[in-house]
Amino acid sequence: MNARTNAPDRVEVNEQGEKVTTFSLKRACNGCGQLVGDVDNRDVDERGNLTDVRGECDHCRPLVELEAAGCRTWEVTPRSINRVDDELDRLDVYAKGYWQEVDGKLQVVGLRVGTGETRVVARFGDWLIAHPNGKFTVHKAPEAVR
Ligand SMILES: [Zn+2]
Repeated sequence: MNARTNAPDRVEVNEQGEKVTTFSLKRACNGCGQLVGDVDNRDVDERGNLTDVRGECDHCRPLVELEAAGCRTWEVTPRSINRVDDELDRLDVYAKGYWQEVDGKLQVVGLRVGTGETRVVARFGDWLIAHPNGKFTVHKAPEAVR
């Protein structure tokens, strides 16, 4: 596949003396939300669904490689946390919401997985990774989108 283009915004002054900005629509990574470049035909499949472009993202490429190596991965977000928790239950893995004080109020900010020394915390935006050996690790969200 051709390298994705990433055209910069163009700012011009038209005949009326007005500043006009022309830009190309950008594709955001479905793993972390960072922009990967200009939108093109590869971004939608034959059924109209957005394609997985995490392999084009420097931050998310390691996740794609881990999945190819047999790991299961979940993005932990306020919308996904209950589904991820249910799936971990079915794998017989202990998990519960991770609480923290935010602006003086206790609230869930992620998912705590496992117990004791092996426990990990995936905060909202992070990816949780289950390795074939039963261990869990966390792929942190990039600072830019935290
Ligand atoms: Zn990404």
